Amino acid sequence: MNDMEGVASVKRCCAFCGKELKGRSDKRFCDDACRNNYGYKHNKSSNIAINRINKSLLHNRNVLKSIAKCGKKVVKRQTLVDNDFNFDVMTGVYKTYKDQEYKMLYDYAYKCINDDDVLVLKCC
Ligand SMILES: [Zn+2]
Repeated sequence: MNDMEGVASVKRCCAFCGKELKGRSDKRFCDDACRNNYGYKHNKSSNIAINRINKSLLHNRNVLKSIAKCGKKVVKRQTLVDNDFNFDVMTGVYKTYKDQEYKMLYDYAYKCINDDDVLVLKCC
């Protein structure tokens, strides 16, 4: 009996609070409260990441919109930088048959013409 307990005594801890678990070996949490808190914490952190990216996307679109309005315009790359434009986020990439690459932000797009100049335009 004691030997059996020795084999089974791998210490398992609650995934939320870290307290040692007793009982069924497939248990991951002390109780429902820890299970719920764990789920909440995980959803919360992924929601924070999603919100942060969504905010950047919308901000970028607003910057492009304020530049191009309903048409197209060439601006200095620095203008975008000055407006806290985040070059790392976009909703898509559109490649033309001439192999030019447009970075999409919803209904707006931009293309780097050279190191300094960026073409900003409203799509359709
Ligand atoms: Zn717990």
